[in-house]
Amino acid sequence: MTRPGKIVCVGRNYREHAKELGNEVPTAPLLFLKPPSAVVAPGAPIVMPKASHRVDFEGEVGVVVGTSLRRATPAQCAAGIRGIVALNDVTARDLQKSDGQWTRGKGFDTFCPLGPEWAGVPPLHDITVVTRVNGDEKQRGNTRDLVFPIPDLLSYISFVMTLEPGDLVATGTPAGVGPLQPGDVVEVELVGYSLVRNPVEAEA
Ligand code: ZN
Repeated sequence: MTRPGKIVCVGRNYREHAKELGNEVPTAPLLFLKPPSAVVAPGAPIVMPKASHRVDFEGEVGVVVGTSLRRATPAQCAAGIRGIVALNDVTARDLQKSDGQWTRGKGFDTFCPLGPEWAGVPPLHDITVVTRVNGDEKQRGNTRDLVFPIPDLLSYISFVMTLEPGDLVATGTPAGVGPLQPGDVVEVELVGYSLVRNPVEAEA
């Protein structure tokens, strides 16, 4: 897909994933931004920066906004969706922790592989996301288990910042996150909709 205007992400939106990192399940969506310059296409390498010793995959459902949404209801947001994409919220876990905020850990170039956009609005409460590393399944989640369902999440965001056509919302990762190594091939699949597969390499 074309580069989004902005990428709005939510942390800890699946209970089991919040627990695996030792975090409380949040009472309101925990938002952060990923820079559009992090986007790469299927097949492009994920480059592990020298600054990090722990780069994790995070398979997620990406939601592409189709209409301008400002202070919108969940129903208006559901109707304003243009499509969905497989998204890998690649994260330098060590830097995310040591920095105390997430801009660097989430923001390196190549840290946002995106699959082809599936145009339309699927059943938002029943999208399965699977992550595989070298063919081995590492994560399997379904949007029915989201702490904040997609329409509610978009509505919450729209009361902070206007969501514009082409913006992307990353809806959080299920349990099972883990590290990548140079030479790995990682893929995120939204079953029936979109898949993104990328090789992993060390920074030259
Ligand atoms: Zn994430």
